[in-house]
Amino acid sequence: MILKPNKIELKNFSDSKKFNETKFGLPSNIEFCVKCAISNQRPVSEKEFTHNINTKKKTVKFKNGICSGCEVVERKKKVIDWKEREKELIDLCNKYRSTDGKYDCLLPGSGGKDSFYASYILKYKYKMNPLTVTWAPHIYTDWGWHNFQAWIKSGFDNYLFTPNGKTQRLLTRLAIEKIFHPFQPFIMGQNLFPIRLAAKNFNIKLIFYGDTNAEFGNPDDFNNSLKPLEYFTKKDLKDIYIAGTSYDELVQKYKISRQDLSTYLPLTEKEFVNSGVKVHYLGYYLPWHPQNCYYFAVENGGFKPAPERNLGTYSKYSSIDDKMDDFHFYTTFIKFGIGRATHDASQEIRNGEINRDEAISLIKQFDGEYPLRFSEEIFQYLSIDQKTFGDISKEFEQSEFNQGYFDLLTDSFRSPHLWLFKDSRWQLRNPIYRNEL
Ligand SMILES: [Zn+2]
Repeated sequence: MILKPNKIELKNFSDSKKFNETKFGLPSNIEFCVKCAISNQRPVSEKEFTHNINTKKKTVKFKNGICSGCEVVERKKKVIDWKEREKELIDLCNKYRSTDGKYDCLLPGSGGKDSFYASYILKYKYKMNPLTVTWAPHIYTDWGWHNFQAWIKSGFDNYLFTPNGKTQRLLTRLAIEKIFHPFQPFIMGQNLFPIRLAAKNFNIKLIFYGDTNAEFGNPDDFNNSLKPLEYFTKKDLKDIYIAGTSYDELVQKYKISRQDLSTYLPLTEKEFVNSGVKVHYLGYYLPWHPQNCYYFAVENGGFKPAPERNLGTYSKYSSIDDKMDDFHFYTTFIKFGIGRATHDASQEIRNGEINRDEAISLIKQFDGEYPLRFSEEIFQYLSIDQKTFGDISKEFEQSEFNQGYFDLLTDSFRSPHLWLFKDSRWQLRNPIYRNEL
């Protein structure tokens, strides 16, 4: 049974306490990149399907005070011959382009600015015939649904996959309980389902993901257009975790059927290799600039920014389609001290839109804001009620999810090396703005 989280020992978070505990394998010293505003606590993208509470996070590497994200962006500006890369893309498209009306590539996307840009370029500039595929958000925002519709209406075929609502709710609850990562099952589905669909259902041999992971801390991806195989193939089901919970436990204890779980699973290496599918990053071939994607989507596709700023940040145009987003970024703030404003501002520094001082004051103002605006709906979503879930609700000491429960859970995921409880409130021990404003 999943027990209600215990109240934490506040003395571990006191001013005088010499903390020797860091959670999730994070580095105990906190360092900020001298160019952007990211700290060395930022995890790099990894295989989601091995992620559980014992996973030691690999974090962004720093060299001479500069994070690998900034280093990659500099190299992209200076070293890469984009004309040459575009030729490589044209060769690739020539190899796969269909002449008989069949789909020749599959493009996973939400209908946000990046997927709009990618699909438009592939279809109208390189004359491909893409099938766009969307893994539905937990709960669409009104503006997210509008943008999704606008995307399709501007000229694309789309396959909208909405996973079993009961399964998705249960997995999301488990993910927030076990690894404090409500988006984790969604990310698995979004990354792995399109590959399964291309290989098993549509016989499409070419998949394009958008930007590479290189900018976000996996510099190895920088010189390779192919997404590494290990991210989306598995060896053995017994090694698979979804929502921080082993596959066997999900089947036996939580009674989720193997069919319902299959949409979240990677293919075996053999299945993948035999399918002949290749997974490329479009960001390897084309310079990727988030704000330009936004302008492009506004101009060519009726994309609209959110009518209000996103909680935890100042921006209105990225990751706006799911009501769960506010919670996702709040959990990264709690676990790593890195909230949504830090993500947004660091990216905008790298792309030359704001300077570091502006970024730091935006972070001070917005980072870590409490995700209140959709909380009622989200808490209901995360409640495992008897009526819908039957006996499974008994696997939770408190099946109802509410603000008090969320706050207890939040505290249980704070690492003493990041957090201080002083003057009756939680504070970061070492925020970027402490010494720099
Ligand atoms: Zn940096």
